[in-house]
Amino acid sequence: MNDDLEKDDLKKDDLTEGHADASKTEDAGKGNNDDYEDVCFICRRPASKAGEMFHLPNNICVCNDCMHKTMDAVSQFDYQGMLGPVSGMPVMPGTGDDGKGNPMGGFPGFSFINLANLRGDGGIPNKQKLKKKKEGGQVPVIDIKNIPAPHRIKESLDQYVVGQEHAKKVMSVAVYNHYKRVATGTMDEIEIEKSNMLMIGPTGCGKTYLVRTLARLLDVPLAIADATSLTEAGYIGDDIESVISKLLAAADNDVERAERGIVFIDEIDKIAKKKDTHTRDVSGESVQQGMLKLLEGAEVEVPVGASSKGAMVPLATVNTRNILFICGGAFPDLDVIIKERLTKSSSMGFESELKDKYDKDTDILSKVTTEDIRKFGMIPEFIGRLPIIFTLQSLSKEMLVRILKEPKNAILKQYQKLLELDEVKLEFTDDALEAIAEKALERDTGARALRSIIEEFMLDIMYEIPKDESIGTVTINADYINGNGGPVIGLRG
Ligand code: ADP
Repeated sequence: MNDDLEKDDLKKDDLTEGHADASKTEDAGKGNNDDYEDVCFICRRPASKAGEMFHLPNNICVCNDCMHKTMDAVSQFDYQGMLGPVSGMPVMPGTGDDGKGNPMGGFPGFSFINLANLRGDGGIPNKQKLKKKKEGGQVPVIDIKNIPAPHRIKESLDQYVVGQEHAKKVMSVAVYNHYKRVATGTMDEIEIEKSNMLMIGPTGCGKTYLVRTLARLLDVPLAIADATSLTEAGYIGDDIESVISKLLAAADNDVERAERGIVFIDEIDKIAKKKDTHTRDVSGESVQQGMLKLLEGAEVEVPVGASSKGAMVPLATVNTRNILFICGGAFPDLDVIIKERLTKSSSMGFESELKDKYDKDTDILSKVTTEDIRKFGMIPEFIGRLPIIFTLQSLSKEMLVRILKEPKNAILKQYQKLLELDEVKLEFTDDALEAIAEKALERDTGARALRSIIEEFMLDIMYEIPKDESIGTVTINADYINGNGGPVIGLRG
């Protein structure tokens, strides 16, 4: 009897020691995990509902209820003899030891899990936990709870995005209306329509950049997805709901924050209905169909910390009602459809116009109607859920030059800042900027070409300048860009 008591006491000591050690190492390794909730592996309830969790190996959490149910089931067996390893096998603290260091009998390699050791904070990475609700946080440039007037939003956008005046105006108004609706929660009473948008514009004209800037200014999470990678659920590719999963990740697994976020779906024109196809269109029309409920507002169960649902992945329910969806695409050959419609309507009657009148119209895209987009291959229900449609212009030489130097984080400013750290002044002459813009126009990828062109020219400069401490200024002119000479170097002093 006494022996038994002693054994129990020893076990308890071992337990507490083991636990303390475990939590020490976990704390050191994991940093601050207080912001995240565990999710029960069996019943999927988060810790706020199910209470404290047991942490099992392999990053699995199980709630008290489920653990006890499991233990009840297991206890039907007689596992008294299975508590410890046989001699020669490693002994876990507080388990197969008889208190005097002698292993008790049992199955080889089988040891009883010490539940107390499993409690604690470590185990599951934050990526698979839900964030607890918390007050406060980073102060955004634009407060969505008290959203400023559209012209103020546009002023903020102006600091980063050059040109695209119409697009900025439309977006500012749409975002204003959207977040006003979210903040006041009036959707149920008067049913203000969701301000989902469709932006049409050539590649590299700033579609993604506009959305990114907007999300940053508003400090809302942003998920950017490529429509080409989406397929109908069950087929190879990402499920449509994976975009919400991405948004949740961008919101640090904070469901509430994700529910006011922005989802940008690029290359939306690539999921147009395929013409003349007799097979199932799993990546085109079906994706459009699948997106309908997300765009309108639905409760979706999304995997936390992974892009697809699986046995090991906890789920969270996200309501998409207040998520702003922005779709973007280049819609190649949409101009042909628009031209066709315009010439058809104007070639009848006395006021008929010349057939080639629209051929030279560079701004033809802005005359787009929903009918044209439907003809392109988007289904009417889909277009109907994107009530705000607008176009962006392709970038001209002048706009490219402005993009180089005007935005708050313009590429030139970035390089100037870099060299400033070496106390070297970097200058670009106006004709150098024009030469760079001309080169970018040739590549036909919009402003995207600018950075790569500048990087090519700056490589040598960034390599050579730090070598020579006497250099004070570097001036880049058109000759250097066109390969007819080198940059002009000025000495210090
Ligand atoms: P896309 O229209 O294909 O989505 P992006 O928005 O990704 O093009 O543009 C590529 C890059 O070009 C951006 O990261 C941004 O730096 C620059 N850029 C494009 N358009 C503009 C613009 N109007 N003003 C400032 N920078 C721009």
